[in-house]
Amino acid sequence: RGKRAFIAGVADDNGYGWAIAKSLAAAGAEILVGTWVPALNIFETGLRRGKFDESRVLPNGSLMEITKVYPLDAVYDGPEDVPEDVKTNKRYSGASNWTVKEVVETVKKDFGTIDILVHSLANGPEVSKPLLETSRYGYLTAVSASSYSFVSLLKHFLPIMNPGGATISLTYIASERTIPGYGGGMSSAKAALESDTRVLAYEAGKKGQIRVNTISAGPLGSRAAKAIGFIEKMIDYSFANAALQKELRADEVGNVAAFLVSPLASAITGSVVYVDNGLNIMGAAG
Ligand code: NAD
Repeated sequence: RGKRAFIAGVADDNGYGWAIAKSLAAAGAEILVGTWVPALNIFETGLRRGKFDESRVLPNGSLMEITKVYPLDAVYDGPEDVPEDVKTNKRYSGASNWTVKEVVETVKKDFGTIDILVHSLANGPEVSKPLLETSRYGYLTAVSASSYSFVSLLKHFLPIMNPGGATISLTYIASERTIPGYGGGMSSAKAALESDTRVLAYEAGKKGQIRVNTISAGPLGSRAAKAIGFIEKMIDYSFANAALQKELRADEVGNVAAFLVSPLASAITGSVVYVDNGLNIMGAAG
């Protein structure tokens, strides 16, 4: 049987989540995705109308199939956590069962188990503010959406993950070195995500023989990154200063994700793996 993957954080064909889905599909996995509720309509309409067909082409010429798209908002663990104004919000009221717990229950009903969990989402409402100007709300929301969301997804998916399974999340070098412009507590959120990768590798390894790794990816002009406002600058900086002076393609990250969740990486867990053209090793401009 092929492996089944759930990829949280796909809402278009520009981000790392889409690229990871493609690499996993090319390796024979069945693809389920979790799409942020407010982005669900546009994504599903685009899929239906063939807007992404060109980007669905796999190396063997076939098209990636997404077996099912689940609405998801990973900042809510269960229905009791959803505030009234969100429940009644027009962008949310059209969908149902989109809290983490409910999504996992639905996946269990639909398919029984999964093998691979991918977390490719982040959100920080004050990302464009320096940390010194970030509110408590902005900081805690960044950590809730970008770090605890992974803890929650793993906690709820673990009971239906087949032993030998694996998880991947996406992190950014701003966790360990100062990147001006990556504010709002997002650098703190990535530091938490990396630390949690180590702790959860131990806990999920012990509990369910599940591996937990994170990819520290170089800059990509995704929708989320464009919203931060400085991505072109970071891409230019990387092109000029990384060990490999070439463009970083999303599929290079997708391919490493496919490796890390495969049996080829059966002894790698708790690791931060850099896929950034070697930018992280540089200590001065070239
Ligand atoms: P993206 O826009 O493709 O992905 C982010 C996704 O998160 C979007 O689909 C968005 O709808 C979803 N999302 C936001 N809040 C959510 C919530 N509460 N519940 C569910 N989904 C939610 O952008 P991306 O840059 O590919 O981001 C994917 C991951 O890669 C993120 O963790 C990001 O921090 C990380 N990353 C990105 C870069 C970069 O330069 N783009 C670099 C390193 C790491």
